[in-house]
Amino acid sequence: MSVLEIKDLHVSIEDKEILKGVNLTINTDEIHAIMGPNGTGKSTLSAAIMGNPNYEVTQGEILFDGENILEMEVDERARLGLFLAMQYPSEIPGITNAEFMRAAMNARRDEDDKISVMDFITKLDDKMSLLNMHEDMAERYLNEGFSGGEKKRNEILQLLMLEPTFAILDEIDSGLDIDALKVVSKGINAMRGENFGALIITHYQRLLNYITPDVVHIMMDGRVVMTGDADLARRLEAEGYAGISKELGIEY
Ligand code: ADP
Ligand code: MG
Ligand code: MG
Repeated sequence: MSVLEIKDLHVSIEDKEILKGVNLTINTDEIHAIMGPNGTGKSTLSAAIMGNPNYEVTQGEILFDGENILEMEVDERARLGLFLAMQYPSEIPGITNAEFMRAAMNARRDEDDKISVMDFITKLDDKMSLLNMHEDMAERYLNEGFSGGEKKRNEILQLLMLEPTFAILDEIDSGLDIDALKVVSKGINAMRGENFGALIITHYQRLLNYITPDVVHIMMDGRVVMTGDADLARRLEAEGYAGISKELGIEY
């Protein structure tokens, strides 16, 4: 079992404090969702976990099995088993999708334990068929000319191939049609298990119709203001953020 702990995290962007003391504990075998209105700091949280240098952590800790990761570079965090799906995945010209995934998988393996080409291809075929992906997606250059939906689906393919310990999925559902949403959800659900934990960040409740989170957190104004189970997401669907903001007396 592994645990990702976020303790009293304060994050600033250009001297403006965005996160004002976030506390969260995610264990493997759990799927957490963070929901919240636009501009409350959800993407800032995911960027800080992954180590984006534009986000300054001014206070607090992020612990992966007790080890503070804040001093680690982005690639070290990835090797440790963190996976971040970007809200706007970048295009990396000149490297195919398959090459990228094999390199990323091998980066987490010892020198004498690299994945063989055969094993890689077998696994890739298996995961691509689970996601109803066309086989030419593997040989295309990474994210070049991918539609929004293809990028999202491809991120889930990367997730299934890399098998991280923790995934932070920021707005993995934005801009997806219903079929793509179902495929993305199927991929995330397929990861569920004792060696995997996820933090799913979403503005809408819709994704949570397909992935039932174990824990739901509401973020407002840079803090987690309420935590509950899947019913909390349903309440939000019914009341919007206004109901919770009124109850707690928080402006957002
Ligand atoms: P959310 O993901 O919840 O919509 P964000 O984390 O993207 O919120 O943004 C939180 C706040 O930080 C917003 O007020 C936003 O305008 C501000 N912000 C985000 N990124 C930057 C940036 N690069 N420079 C300045 N302000 C930013
Ligand atoms: Mg935003
Ligand atoms: Mg965001």
